[in-house]
Amino acid sequence: MEPTKHERLRGRCRVSEASDLVAREESVSADVLGQLVERMEQMILRGELSPGSRLREMALADALGVRRGPLREAIRILEGRRLLERTPNAGVSVIAPTLEDFEQLLVAREALEGMAARLAAQNMTSRQLDELRAMAARMESRDTKDHDALGVCQTGPDSDFHRHIAACSRNKRIEQWLCEDLYSLLRFFRARARPQASVAHAEHRAIIEAIHRRDGDAAEQAMRSHIRRSRRALLAHASVNGMDKEPAK
Ligand SMILES: [Zn+2]
Repeated sequence: MEPTKHERLRGRCRVSEASDLVAREESVSADVLGQLVERMEQMILRGELSPGSRLREMALADALGVRRGPLREAIRILEGRRLLERTPNAGVSVIAPTLEDFEQLLVAREALEGMAARLAAQNMTSRQLDELRAMAARMESRDTKDHDALGVCQTGPDSDFHRHIAACSRNKRIEQWLCEDLYSLLRFFRARARPQASVAHAEHRAIIEAIHRRDGDAAEQAMRSHIRRSRRALLAHASVNGMDKEPAK
């Protein structure tokens, strides 16, 4: 089960959300719904659906070439991912996060990832630890310019590293809050922090070694200081996605 667990985790919310909904709405295939959700998510993250703007179902269904049933299902999924929010009597709007929200997310992330690392030190199998080492090694072998997203935890090797630790915490709540809620919201923000890949690599190695020693205190502290340092760097160069550019036509 171990090798596939974080792979499952990464795809889980898309697949399970789509298939649950399709069970209720047989006319839409999971694939079609999944693609629609993916497309709308990109529109939100790119600012094509402006932060704070209200969704106009009919116009959106026309623009996307879909019926309103599937569109509503997609909207429900994106509400679940906290990218859309429903206000009574006002309909559904795109969230409009602020830099203060970004800071709060990153503070919460420090606590959650610290606990995930502590639990992983107890629960990670040696095979999972080998996988974690391999992930860190792959990151170190890549060119430095690939590392400007280090610490943001959106996609890519750094994200894989952190998601793997969350999965190996074997605490479903922490895994879900991190991998489904928090990382999803973090994608709303952009930070042009200068890459400090060598520092991040050293921090990753400290986390791995603490887990290897089964030292939960050290694993938590190492993870917390990794996240804390990246938070400072990110906040110094942060912008809210979609607010610093013209919406794409
Ligand atoms: Zn990292």
